[in-house]
Amino acid sequence: MESLDRPDLLGMAPAELGRQLKEHFRARGQPGYRARQVADWVFAGEVSAVGGMTNLPALERTALGGAFRLAEPAEAKVAESADGSVKHLWRLEDGEVVESVLIPAGRRLTLCISSQAGCALGCRFCATGWSGFGRQLSAGEIAGQYRAAARWARARGAGPITNVVFMGMGEPLANRRAVFPALTILNAGYGVGARRVTVSTVGVVPGILALAEREEQFRLAVSLHAPVSSLRAELVPLERRYPLGELMEALDAFRRKGGRRTTFEYTMIRDVNDGRSLVGDLARLALRAEAFVNLIPFNPIPYVDWRPSRPARVRAFLDALRAAGVAAAVREPRGRDIDAACGQLRAAAQSRPARRVSESDSRSGLPVSP
Ligand code: SF4
Repeated sequence: MESLDRPDLLGMAPAELGRQLKEHFRARGQPGYRARQVADWVFAGEVSAVGGMTNLPALERTALGGAFRLAEPAEAKVAESADGSVKHLWRLEDGEVVESVLIPAGRRLTLCISSQAGCALGCRFCATGWSGFGRQLSAGEIAGQYRAAARWARARGAGPITNVVFMGMGEPLANRRAVFPALTILNAGYGVGARRVTVSTVGVVPGILALAEREEQFRLAVSLHAPVSSLRAELVPLERRYPLGELMEALDAFRRKGGRRTTFEYTMIRDVNDGRSLVGDLARLALRAEAFVNLIPFNPIPYVDWRPSRPARVRAFLDALRAAGVAAAVREPRGRDIDAACGQLRAAAQSRPARRVSESDSRSGLPVSP
């Protein structure tokens, strides 16, 4: 494992990276263009180590490696689904593991990335929630998933990645200290358009308000899963901390910023949240937030005995939403054959059994960094 006290080349936005590299090469009496050469290597993503930066003199590669680290996640496991999606399990410098998934659909190739190792928020339908919280990821570890997955895809003729969604392990808005710089790195460094990057949250209100303040028009997905507070609190413990009323006010603020699209994610669990009586409430919230609604049949996980809603129920729910004027679609979960539900590969890779996070843990806010 590399020493963690050196700055990570993958964890800096272009401006900061340029500044630090210029300082480094100036101190070594090297020409100014060396900084640009290294930045090009970082954001082109072709090499996974400083030693591969072949247009630098050998001495400069050694000095660069002594001053900085290039901490790209290492591939621990790859699982390819019959439906074309590919899940990577990445091993980080300290041995923690996180997942990302490549999802091809037509001309799109979407990468779903993780923002935390595990998650403390304990949503009942989510395998990551059951596997517990490991730690926050750094900006470099988040952007590094993109870098490594993009190279993996390119090598197999599958790239380029067109969209990035923060829907892997963890609650991105509970790790804003790393996720916000990672958004800048993806956008300004790797050139992923802001409207092609979606941040998914279960409703961390201060994070939504902070995202609304950013100039770039990143997209927002809200994991709603229930349109009434009492039911939502059973599925998403964070509802007790940021109830639906507050969440909707934050979404009003997000909408007022203009040009930003919001989607509601609604996992359909048989006889839990798929009753027709909920359609009216969901429609009201979606119309207020001008949100597109994705209905996602529940992907069974080993920790609860819930089942996906019956297809006829999903169809009827969709039709009723549309009849109420809501833009909505059914999104089938991908990669069911490769432990697709987020968090399952990590849980399987852990030696300790998955643990349930208590409600007091998830309300404590400890992992919710500013
Ligand atoms: S759904 Fe998201 S916030 Fe909830 S436990 Fe899973 S990873 Fe965490």
